[in-house]
Amino acid sequence: MIQKLQDNVSVLKGIGEETEKTLNELGIYTVADLLGYFPYRYDDYELRNLEEVKHDERVTVEGKVHSEPVLTYYGKKRSRLTFRLLVGRFLITAICFNRPYLKRSLVLGDTVSVTGKWDKNRQSIMVQEFKKGTHEQDGSIEPVYSVKENVTVKMMRRFVKQALSLYADKAEDPLPKQLVSAYKLMSYQEALKAIHLPETRDSLKQARRRFVYEEFLIFQLKMQAIRKKERERTSGIQHPFSKEAVFEFVNSLPFPLTKAQSRVLDEIMSDMASPYRMNRLLQGDVGSGKTAVAAIALYAAHLSGFQGALMVPTEILAEQHADSLYQLFEKWGLNIALLTSSVKGKRRRELLERLKEGEIDILVGTHALIQDEVEFQQLGLVITDEQHRFGVEQRKKLRSKGQDPDVLFMTATPIPRTLAITVFGEMDVSVIDELPAGRKQIETYWVKHDMLERILAFVDKELRKGRQAYIICPLIEESDKLDVQNALDVHSMLTEAYRGKWSIGLMHGKLASDEKDQVMRAFTANEVQILVSTTVVEVGVNVPNATIMVIYDADRFGLSQLHQLRGRVGRGEHQSFCILMADPKSETGKERMRIMSETTDGFELSEKDLELRGPGDFFGKKQSGMPEFKVADMVHDYRALETARKDAADLVQSDAFWTDPEYKELRQTLIDSGVLGGDKLS
Ligand code: ADP
Ligand code: MG
Repeated sequence: MIQKLQDNVSVLKGIGEETEKTLNELGIYTVADLLGYFPYRYDDYELRNLEEVKHDERVTVEGKVHSEPVLTYYGKKRSRLTFRLLVGRFLITAICFNRPYLKRSLVLGDTVSVTGKWDKNRQSIMVQEFKKGTHEQDGSIEPVYSVKENVTVKMMRRFVKQALSLYADKAEDPLPKQLVSAYKLMSYQEALKAIHLPETRDSLKQARRRFVYEEFLIFQLKMQAIRKKERERTSGIQHPFSKEAVFEFVNSLPFPLTKAQSRVLDEIMSDMASPYRMNRLLQGDVGSGKTAVAAIALYAAHLSGFQGALMVPTEILAEQHADSLYQLFEKWGLNIALLTSSVKGKRRRELLERLKEGEIDILVGTHALIQDEVEFQQLGLVITDEQHRFGVEQRKKLRSKGQDPDVLFMTATPIPRTLAITVFGEMDVSVIDELPAGRKQIETYWVKHDMLERILAFVDKELRKGRQAYIICPLIEESDKLDVQNALDVHSMLTEAYRGKWSIGLMHGKLASDEKDQVMRAFTANEVQILVSTTVVEVGVNVPNATIMVIYDADRFGLSQLHQLRGRVGRGEHQSFCILMADPKSETGKERMRIMSETTDGFELSEKDLELRGPGDFFGKKQSGMPEFKVADMVHDYRALETARKDAADLVQSDAFWTDPEYKELRQTLIDSGVLGGDKLS
């Protein structure tokens, strides 16, 4: 019988029913699954010089027992054993918990080796592993697997060893030879052995390098295959607008477009004019003029005889957008309508009727736009703002509203390139990387909370000049879990401090939507001078007269979020200020405050944010759509990601990829992931 990788793991020695059950729970059913279950870390027992070891690092050292061990009991089972160990010229303390029996093995002057966490400050090691005698360098890198219940790491090592010797030769390399040799990658079989049982640090590194590339390539192939499929669909709308007519409108705007805006507009218009469906991400920093570009695209759709939709995440934003579009198009005879959940009853029915009849040209709204009752006569262009707040499903639903409308997703959260090509890898990307000329830089300061008096005096001075201020708190109300400022307290504190002088508004997510609207309207009309708020004002809110942004406990927020908040000011002609109040305890917290006060470029900040927080946290927990990679790390392996993306794009464009047996394994991964139907397999 030929042994195949698809054999059940239970064919291996030592895997009985119970063990198999646990392995299944770990997602391991076949031998292939087992070989694909990589160690999540390695124990490195290579002896190190303590001088080079960092605080908290795990290390193995060899030394002579230098003091009688002292054993202390706490209760029946818990104990602590300490002794002095002379390692080279270091005299350190070794501490072992709950292993009283080790005392017998510790003889003054004997050589022992210990492995554990190095506490540089106390010059001590928290012993995890202990051996008598001199340390053997053999097998000094050991794989550690994530295990559970009755399966131990040692068992996993045995199973994997067995599987490697029986099966590794039968594993087929999914990568084509030409790529393996072009990048001098380790062969699949070699890499499988080296990732599980590395003989040297270098072979582990090479194995990892190979799997990182493979993982990225397979992922990017999916993205590129989807993109190609989309591009080839000719069922999209070919908008027949005349460019001259569009530019008539562009020239009527009170400003010339920036170079970046013009370039992006070109990209969008050529997508719209072509028969395939636009699926484009438009990135641009706050205030870079995305909305202006969106308006022009909506106008082009209108000229082509189609309706347009603009979907945004909040009602306030929907109103603001509807307002500004209304003003822009006033002279051009377009009908703009606003649909949110507060449009009810008869008004709603009428609006929906007019929409269906084609009397409304542009519909602006929140999630309400994607409800089933909303029917367009002929929807040609859909634009969403701050799109990462919408989930993948919502994006799809929106697209199904017309007959294959063109779709443009806008975001003002600059997304680091590595994330953009991963999370939105199937889309085309346009970037506005330039702000309109003459914008004043927002001055940003980082201060401690005990500077409050001076900040309030400064706010007061600006307010007397006629300006307005935002004050942001991380929480709505007091919490016994978190020691950070809350909006309710700050609101009453300021109401007291500025009594009879300024009017203070309060804004947070727990207000009903009409309350929110009232507060926002009052602030926009300058009836309220100071708006105390949580981060609900983060997205898109536009009050050009507001010039001060004060953020409490600023180290609580990510860089991208701080940047969004800061973008609420600096929207008018006056010099604006952002004051970050923070007493960060951690180094990263301090680092973040420093970066914020020095950098105003959103893309630069987003890259730093990604470095500091890691990809998982970048978008926050909800709806991030972040793929999980087994070996690869989007931040550290970004070069491999770029390479894989380019290779994937080239591959899907080549005929060989779709026909040559050399690419069979790669094509199979596309079929397995549902990107391709089985029919394309040849
Ligand atoms: P975004 O949507 O990217 O935040 P907006 O389109 O809302 O940016 O533009 C921000 C402000 O800049 C608006 O007041 C808009 O009228 C103005 N604006 C847009 N494009 C330009 C330009 N090319 N030159 C000058 N001002 C511009
Ligand atoms: Mg905008």
